[in-house]
Amino acid sequence: MQTLYDKHHCTLCPRECGADRTTSVGVCGAGDDVRIAKTMLHRFEEPPISGTRGSGAIFFCGCNLRCGYCQNAAISHGQAAGAHYTVAQLADSMLALQASGAHNINLVTAAHYLPQVVQALQSVKPHLSVPVVYNSSGYEKATALRLLDGLVDIYLPDFKYLDASAARRYSAAADYPTVAMAAIEEMLRQTGEYREKDGLAVRGTVIRHLVLPGLSADGAAIMRTVARQFPAARVSIMRQYTPSFNRTGDRALDRKVTALEYNRVVDAAIACGLTGFTQERDSATDIYTPDFT
Ligand code: SF4
Repeated sequence: MQTLYDKHHCTLCPRECGADRTTSVGVCGAGDDVRIAKTMLHRFEEPPISGTRGSGAIFFCGCNLRCGYCQNAAISHGQAAGAHYTVAQLADSMLALQASGAHNINLVTAAHYLPQVVQALQSVKPHLSVPVVYNSSGYEKATALRLLDGLVDIYLPDFKYLDASAARRYSAAADYPTVAMAAIEEMLRQTGEYREKDGLAVRGTVIRHLVLPGLSADGAAIMRTVARQFPAARVSIMRQYTPSFNRTGDRALDRKVTALEYNRVVDAAIACGLTGFTQERDSATDIYTPDFT
């Protein structure tokens, strides 16, 4: 932990921006205190994650990837200040979500708070009877993820790009493809095969891909890569891209995904034998994005 997280010179995530988080914030927008935008029962995750009562989502403020088209920009790009949580309060919020009926505890974009999240999970895990889900952009160091071994049951990583130029253009992270593949490999090492019990996910890794306008060929290539390198994972092919926020400077993202584009990615997944989740055409609305105001 010492070498991974120095709060005076943070290199926790692949950005390695070196911020002194005690006096300022890093590229991720985070200082040394944990800030949470919202905790809620979230009903719009994949069916085995949301179940009938909802997933116990904890939305952390900030993000180390900060895609220029983010679908949760209010929290990732800093408009939502959130509330300060101590490690003990973070642990208590997990127990409160479990008590309110959540099917799981769903940590949404927590990479930049990993040391505090690990501490909270170490104290609370023996008291949780529901799985812990770690919901990630995929832009994480595999060495950092090893701290979660034994604490997380289900990983929900994005696999956004295989094309490094798209990763640079839209997320200022040309190394995203190699970083995300190493991260997913570590996640699968920890969880093994995807498993459900009574219709709910209990273990495994579900790789999400949000299909973007103009990038369906890359999406299809991602499906082939998953089939070849991560066959134990499930995939979740997301159609919900909504052009509500665009700081990429690329007008190609100012529209929704067409049926042809979405089906191209789904067809590639089917052709290489992947199983998982798809979304209906009417998913491209902002009802899938919680209100953080
Ligand atoms: S976690 Fe934040 S502060 Fe630390 S290296 Fe990444 S972007 Fe910088």
